[in-house]
Amino acid sequence: VSTAISDRATWLKGQTAGCSTVLPFPPQPCRLVLLGAPGIGKGTQAELLCRRLRSCHLSTGDVFRAIRYDPPDMLSPAMQQALQQMTSGQLVDDQTVLDVIRERSRCFECQYGFVLDGFPRTVLQAEQLDQTLRQLRIKLDAVISFELPMEMLIERLSGRRTCPQCKATFHVTSRPPRKQDVCDSCGGKLIQREDDRPEAVRVRLEAYTQSTAPLENYYREDGRLLAVSGDGSPEAVHERVLDALRPQRAVATAQRTG
Ligand SMILES: [Zn+2]
Ligand SMILES: [Zn+2]
Repeated sequence: VSTAISDRATWLKGQTAGCSTVLPFPPQPCRLVLLGAPGIGKGTQAELLCRRLRSCHLSTGDVFRAIRYDPPDMLSPAMQQALQQMTSGQLVDDQTVLDVIRERSRCFECQYGFVLDGFPRTVLQAEQLDQTLRQLRIKLDAVISFELPMEMLIERLSGRRTCPQCKATFHVTSRPPRKQDVCDSCGGKLIQREDDRPEAVRVRLEAYTQSTAPLENYYREDGRLLAVSGDGSPEAVHERVLDALRPQRAVATAQRTG
């Protein structure tokens, strides 16, 4: 099995760069949006899906990280705006995110499809995305919503331990240090950051749930939402996603050939 993965050149560098994936055979394109609370492992699932389906991983986090390494005068006005907001410690606003996505919309037409991760975040953004895709005559195959009970998410997120000296991070169950409460890299004493305490995590998760509910409803109403349990290993969750997608993809193939 080839592990070729798209280099996402369009996504990371802008409209003038073309994505390239060298593949021995053409699989069916798959166009997905991923939704899920912090700690659910959405980024990992996006990577596994892209490796399997050859799709471009369109992560807004990656775009905004990538621009820090570009010469500022090479950036588009939207990217300059995003950079400015980030360097002043703000969140990148809705309109700027949309502008950046639009600049990269050629990635929506990539041969093997795409997996959107981190966008849309609001119903407004979802509507704009639908509009852009309609113009390109592209249909989303599904919106995958990863789900896990709040208590399990709190347990995952509050297990993080940080080294105050070298900033290394660990996790009490999924990435424990060799010696309990001691940093592997520098021997410093590990702490639980204020943000990682269960009470703080709960507040963050509740805010997430509240702000995402309308978005989930938007996709549920027209039957595009696929709920997938985020419980278990990344591989187990990945297999669950592929199972959930199978009927969707069969329909898409039938429509294409029929
Ligand atoms: Zn692409
Ligand atoms: Zn350390």
